[in-house]
Amino acid sequence: MTSPERDELLRAPLFHTPRNPFLEDRALVSHEDGGLLIRNGRIAASGDFETIRAAHPEAITTDLRGGFLLPGLIDTHVHFPQLRVLGGLGRTLLDWLDVCALPEEARMSDESYAREIASAFVHALASHGTTTALVFGAHFAAATAALFEAGRASGLRIASGLVMSDRQLHPELHQTPEAAYRDCKDLIRCFHGRGRLLYAVTPRFALSASEAMLEVCQTLRQEHDGLLFQTHLNENPQEIAEVARLFPWASDYLAVYERYGLGGGGAVMAHNVHPTASEFDRLAAEGTTIAHCPCSNAALGSGLFALKRHLKAGVRVALGTDVGGGTGFGMLKEALQAYLLQRVAPEGAMLDAAQMLYLATRAGAEALGLENETGDFQTGKSADLVYIRPPANTPLAAVLERADTSEQALAAIFTLAGSESVCEVRVEGSIVHKGSIVYK
Ligand SMILES: [Zn+2]
Repeated sequence: MTSPERDELLRAPLFHTPRNPFLEDRALVSHEDGGLLIRNGRIAASGDFETIRAAHPEAITTDLRGGFLLPGLIDTHVHFPQLRVLGGLGRTLLDWLDVCALPEEARMSDESYAREIASAFVHALASHGTTTALVFGAHFAAATAALFEAGRASGLRIASGLVMSDRQLHPELHQTPEAAYRDCKDLIRCFHGRGRLLYAVTPRFALSASEAMLEVCQTLRQEHDGLLFQTHLNENPQEIAEVARLFPWASDYLAVYERYGLGGGGAVMAHNVHPTASEFDRLAAEGTTIAHCPCSNAALGSGLFALKRHLKAGVRVALGTDVGGGTGFGMLKEALQAYLLQRVAPEGAMLDAAQMLYLATRAGAEALGLENETGDFQTGKSADLVYIRPPANTPLAAVLERADTSEQALAAIFTLAGSESVCEVRVEGSIVHKGSIVYK
């Protein structure tokens, strides 16, 4: 643990992307013999170890050579009540929701069950190196509160909110707009801005939210400063057709949210696999972030994400695991999947390691308006980090021994590092997770 009186200097190779590698060359900052100076939970300096040690000889050095330091990973789309439906393969979105996800989400009406899942959920985030997450809560206020409580106990940065729906799902998940408003107000009062917790207004998707429910979402955002917003957009053709039927006045899916002012900074919409040309432009103009979830897109057969077109239009993009439509909690794996699908997508982007790191860290911080707090190792930010160290006798250990450049080492980490390689995770300098296996 970090002593509040003495500075701590971590020594290990380190990587971060303080600039956007999609816009700037050489945006990856790497130090082969790196140093990260932590003072009262903040980054007091990052760079070459010897330089920092010379300037701060009083600091206690923690020698972490043998592993690598990355900024804490940021998951911008993940569902807490879906932990136990991971692995429901062989279906498409609406069928998967009906058979796999919604029955499990209904079990969250049992508060003690929800507490058990919430605790397992935050542990899963931390053990995969995720320090910040934008999380879909449950359709029940008590279960959503259980997630916030588990988040607070874990030390992670958790933004979440009650999932709001009043039609088209299983009836036990529906709530009137009036009841949703009341529950949201209570949750905001109890959790928003408390410690590392933030509240996110969370209509499940336009398909399951009436106009009255979307109006409640708009009202909540108007009544409280700094609330985030999250929902789904353009995931699956059947879903899009159904939204068009339910909102005949809307020119496209995004127009439904736009009518209620539900976009812009601090708004994250998951997927956008089937956008119209006009939607690209409007998302960019508003500054709404798309949470790209490539494992989920592939697992549910939703389609290939047009990353290049998003970037060209100037739409902000970050990454999400979309547990349980996705395939697990690993943000490194998610970035790898983004890379793999772009390789086979028509007009796909060729992602490099710096871009993968940016998508898994700083892009998420920007999406949540936390770019001055976390997402890279710039001086003054919170010391949120993941220490990757390959276990002995693993392919990753073998590859890293031979990596000639830091880019090669980073690409190998994205390709081969699972949760077994997550040795230590910190938020504001304090350890929130420690791996328990034998490291090389
Ligand atoms: Zn989702």
